[in-house]
Amino acid sequence: EPPLLEVEHLTVDVPGADGPVRIIDDVSFSMQAGTTTGLIGESGSGKTMTAMAVLGLLPPGSTTGGSIRFRGRDLLSMNEDERRKVRGREISMIFQDPLAALNPTQRIGKQVGEILRANGSSRAEAQRTAVALLDRAGIPDPAARADDYPHQFSGGMRQRAMVALALAGTPQLILADEPTTALDVTVQARILDLLRSLRDNEGTAMLLVSHDLRVMAHVADHLVVMYAGRVAERGPARELLRRPKHPYTRALVHSVPSVSAKSAIADPLPGAPANPRARPTGCAFHPRCPMARDICRDVDPALLEVGPGRRSACHFAEEVPA
Ligand code: SF4
Repeated sequence: EPPLLEVEHLTVDVPGADGPVRIIDDVSFSMQAGTTTGLIGESGSGKTMTAMAVLGLLPPGSTTGGSIRFRGRDLLSMNEDERRKVRGREISMIFQDPLAALNPTQRIGKQVGEILRANGSSRAEAQRTAVALLDRAGIPDPAARADDYPHQFSGGMRQRAMVALALAGTPQLILADEPTTALDVTVQARILDLLRSLRDNEGTAMLLVSHDLRVMAHVADHLVVMYAGRVAERGPARELLRRPKHPYTRALVHSVPSVSAKSAIADPLPGAPANPRARPTGCAFHPRCPMARDICRDVDPALLEVGPGRRSACHFAEEVPA
């Protein structure tokens, strides 16, 4: 089956004081329908920018290279009109801050209904389906809550309302950027279970952006670990978390005890995240890498195959300890 989304050699340059800065550099990955891919990395790693490129929502003045094919069509070469259509219907988004996505002056049910109307439902149908969607997003008493305004919802309920809104377009792909960071742990877990059941029951693919490895371990089938605008490592989530083949992934895993389960204490990542505007020579991770050797300072490691479906950009991928 051809991939649902295929990102190939993506580059993004943004304007800087001394000319364009490459903040995404040769990023490639693909995802199948009905699967969840997690983009993980610290701030500045380029994970959000990669997601924004998929949505066609890059900062003004950015230029792109490579391709992002969604169901065979290149999103990067579409005009803004075509892209907006794809964004409203085939690709939906869930943001960190639901208030930014919800209209404060409109009842929740109506907001969901309007998307359904725009996709061809009659008024009565839209009303019915809106309530069903709120129900599916896990909002109790959905018929009554449909008449509420966003400010009458708690944070967790707003997040659910946003999920209902995202579902109204019957998307093939949902893009979620840190969808649970603002929520407490129990609500987080419920939203994640909801996202997971969408994948299982509706076959909705999800591109999840997060710095939180626990979230990823919970929902992602595949992971793309980003560092300084490039892919450090990618592969099936479980194997990748269990046996990282890049020292950066390993450091991430060990910074969250409940993910590694190898030690009870968290080992915080040393040093500061790489700044794509001041990229270290050779391997960008070398100033922070416990395994760095001379070659790492000079030679930029290529992203090579290191196992079935796995790639790592480390000269010593096979020597990374568990
Ligand atoms: Fe560390 Fe060298 Fe591998 Fe980079 S290439 S991650 S510096 S061992």
